[in-house]
Amino acid sequence: MGELMECMCQECGISHIIDLETISLEDFEGGGGKLVSNLFCSECGGQLVLNKKAGEEPNYRLK
Ligand SMILES: [Zn+2]
Repeated sequence: MGELMECMCQECGISHIIDLETISLEDFEGGGGKLVSNLFCSECGGQLVLNKKAGEEPNYRLK
């Protein structure tokens, strides 16, 4: 298992917690963040943007 990341939908603002290993990232124009290129919002199909690590603190989940 990889790290869990929080990704926010650009359309509806919902946050999705996604395993980092399951997502592909693209550089965002302007360098302000990362776009998720292979997954979309389950609610509206909008573009997801990588927000931060789930839980915000840089701790690692061990399994
Ligand atoms: Zn959405």
